Amino acid sequence: MEKIKMVDLHNQYLRIKPEIDAAIQQVLDSTAFIQGPPVAAFASALSKYLGGIHVIPCANGTDALQIAMMALGLKPGDEVILPVHTYVATAEVIALLGLVPVFAEVDARTFNLDPSGLEALITSRTVAIVPVHLYGQCADMEAILAIAKKHSLHVIEDSAQALGAAYTFEDGTIRKAGTMGTIGCTSFFPSKNLGCYGDGGALFTHDAALAETIRIVANHGQRVKYQHDLVGVNSRLDTLQAAILEVKLKYLDDYTRRRNAVAAHYDKALANMNVRGITVPYRVANSTHAFHQYTIQVEANRDAFKNYLEAKGVPTMIYYPIPLHLQQAYLRNGFGRGSFAITERLSETVLSLPIDTEIQREQLDYITEVITGYFSQ
Ligand SMILES: *Cc1c(COP(=O)(O)O)cnc(C)c1O
Repeated sequence: MEKIKMVDLHNQYLRIKPEIDAAIQQVLDSTAFIQGPPVAAFASALSKYLGGIHVIPCANGTDALQIAMMALGLKPGDEVILPVHTYVATAEVIALLGLVPVFAEVDARTFNLDPSGLEALITSRTVAIVPVHLYGQCADMEAILAIAKKHSLHVIEDSAQALGAAYTFEDGTIRKAGTMGTIGCTSFFPSKNLGCYGDGGALFTHDAALAETIRIVANHGQRVKYQHDLVGVNSRLDTLQAAILEVKLKYLDDYTRRRNAVAAHYDKALANMNVRGITVPYRVANSTHAFHQYTIQVEANRDAFKNYLEAKGVPTMIYYPIPLHLQQAYLRNGFGRGSFAITERLSETVLSLPIDTEIQREQLDYITEVITGYFSQ
C-alpha cells in the first residue's frame, strides 16, 4: 500500500501528465509568461463551466477577496460580516483594508454561517456579508441573500473550498458556488478542488461594469496603460498556471465525483461501525458537496484520536484549531472564550480525514480499519 497522504497531488499529476507537460511546454516555447493566451482561454472556459459569468483571474484567493472589497469601494470603518469559523484569509483582507470584521456564529451541523443570527449583527455601517462555503458545501444562500437584499448589502462569496458545488433555490433555480452573490471569489491553491501548480485565484460577477472595475483594480488601477484611475494592486494569474488550469478544468466534475465517492465510503464505514462519539458530515438538501474536506466531529479526546491515527500512518488535519476571535491579531471588542460557543466547540472536535481524487480503495479500507481499531480498544 502506498503511504497515505492528506492530498496526493503527485498521482493526480501523473494521470494527466502528457496533457499538462504539453500545455507547460507550449507556454515555455511562447515565452508569453504574463497575460499569454491561456489566461483568457481559461477564464472563458471557467465562465462557461459556471453558467456564463464574468471571470477575472488573479494571483490567489486572498487577493480575490481583497480585490472584491476594493472594487466595491468599501471604505475604512465599514463593517463586513463573516463567519468566525473559517480560514484567516477572509478576515485578513477585511482588516487590511481598514474595514471592520464582524464575526458571526456558524451552524453546528453545516459549519457554515448561521443566517438566524445575522440580522442582529447588522448596523448602519454594515456594507457586506461574506459567506464561506466551508469544506465544499454551500452556505444557506437563500436566507443570506434575502437578508442582504432587505438591508442593501453586498454578498461576497468565498468559494475557495467549493468550486464545482451547486445550490438549488426554492424556486428550482440551480447556481454554482461563487455565482450567487455580488462577487464570488475562489482560489486555485494546489490542494484546492481545482488547483494549479503554484498560486492562483479568480473573481466572478454577473455585473459587466463591476467586472470591468475588478479588472482595473487587479491591474494597478489602470484602464489604459500608465493611466491610473484607481488605487489598485498587481494581481495576475500567470500564464503557466492558466495553461495548467485549462487542462485541469476539464476534469473538475470527475474530481468532484471521486471526492464524493470517498465521502460515501467514509459515511458508510463509519455508520456501519456505529461508533458513538463520531459525527459524519451533515448534508443539506439544497446543495451538492464538493468535499474539499471530509470533516468529522469527535466528541471526546479528539487530539488523542488524531495522534493514534498519525502513529498508524493516517494523516489528518484540524481546520481550524484556533477560532478567529481568539487569535492574537483579531482580539477586539472584548471577545473572548465563550463569545462563540459553537465555533469554539468545533475547534476542539473537528477532524478532517484524507480525501482527494487519488486515494485508493486499499488505503480507505486501511483507514476505516484503524478507526475501528481505536474504538474497540
Ligand atoms: C484557501 C482559502 C482562501 C485563500 O486562498 P489562497 O489562494 O491561499 O490565498 C480563502 N478562503 C478560504 C475559505 C480558503 O480555503
